[in-house]
Amino acid sequence: TNLAGSEPDMIMRRQNLLGPAYRLFYANPVHVVRGEGVWLYDPDGKAYLDVYNNVACVGHCHPHVVAALTKQASLLNTHTRYLHETVLDYAERLLGYFSAEIGHVMFTCTGSEANDLALRVAKAHTGGTGFIITDFAYHGVTEATAGMSPSLGPAMVLGEHVRKVPAPDAYREGGRDVGAVLADNVRKAIDDMRANGIKPAGLLVDTIFSSDGVFTDPQGFLSGAVDAIHESGGLFIADEVQSGFGRTGERMWGFQRHEIMPDLVTMGKPMGNGHPVAGMAARPEILAEFGQRLRYFNTFGGNAVSAAAGMAVLDIIEGEKLRDNARVVGAHLRSGLESLALRYPIIGDIRSAGLFVGVELVRCRASKEPARDETARVVNGLRERRVLISAAGPSANILKIRPPLVFSIDNADLFLTALDETLAEVGVS
Ligand code: PMP
Repeated sequence: TNLAGSEPDMIMRRQNLLGPAYRLFYANPVHVVRGEGVWLYDPDGKAYLDVYNNVACVGHCHPHVVAALTKQASLLNTHTRYLHETVLDYAERLLGYFSAEIGHVMFTCTGSEANDLALRVAKAHTGGTGFIITDFAYHGVTEATAGMSPSLGPAMVLGEHVRKVPAPDAYREGGRDVGAVLADNVRKAIDDMRANGIKPAGLLVDTIFSSDGVFTDPQGFLSGAVDAIHESGGLFIADEVQSGFGRTGERMWGFQRHEIMPDLVTMGKPMGNGHPVAGMAARPEILAEFGQRLRYFNTFGGNAVSAAAGMAVLDIIEGEKLRDNARVVGAHLRSGLESLALRYPIIGDIRSAGLFVGVELVRCRASKEPARDETARVVNGLRERRVLISAAGPSANILKIRPPLVFSIDNADLFLTALDETLAEVGVS
């Protein structure tokens, strides 16, 4: 038989060509050739409902983004050492989504680079070197950011000046005030740094705690921790790579749900709808030292085509009222999940903000024992129904539901029906 182009052949070619560090989604990997809106298509034209892709935030291959990319690519694509208006227009528009304290934005190609830059800026401003992150955080692929990404696995050795604190998990903390617990843990981490001669430089958190397990409520739980890092002379860095650009409904940024003001904000993923554009926004007084001492040039960061893509994404978020959509469809999805929870005791907790949803599966509601294997079966069972999600958290027992922001009520109903069938099939009552 001729296996060329077949999935088993492709899996082998991947291993041979790309080496051992990559991972595919699903026991039965998905081969896709085209995307449109919330749909991905395989070579036979079969459609998969994408309930996971936060990069294609305005929908796969949105024609307005494609047109903006094409138009700019055929006119000019060069870097930030020439004067061109596109990047300035985009910077101005992007900064319009922040309050006046945030006055500068610098462009990179990836969220990792944005976080890496934020770490450098924080060190330059504070003179410190210590950073605090959450227990199962993910912040990137560079040496410094991977060293702040315990979710990469037990083999990932964290940076020497890095301290971990538990994420604000209201489900597992029972009735305790998670904000107070978090603030207390940040203070302890600061004390521990000082005891080891390390000066604090910053607290870096993904404000939706995506890899930690999606922690959304109660709103405001970050304020004590932010106060604690500020009192120590360190900065608060909001990693908005996952929670930014309207995903949480209503507001543009995840940190805004908690009524806090970051010193530095990093963003990426949905920013170019798949085109690699990312960045860091900053309070000007914090960027000052870094900018005076060092120059920054990122060959591809802030190029004219990236800026055009970023601008087109903002056009669509506004024009198609996607923040409203995230709020309305997110609420519908949540109430559907709450109905399922009445019938499936495996659903231990539902956490959501807009179209960012975590559903924690447990073997027993009293003991909250993580249902790791069952979660994998649910994710793979959905895949067999051509519905794509994934799982998060240290025990990989939290369904991560994070569709493009153009997800409709009908799409949500389709997902809920597939989840109902899958939970019944997995037999987890
Ligand atoms: N921060 C968070 C919270 C992320 O989820 C990611 C990507 N998964 C990154 C940073 C790194 O972004 P990138 O992959 O674009 O480098």
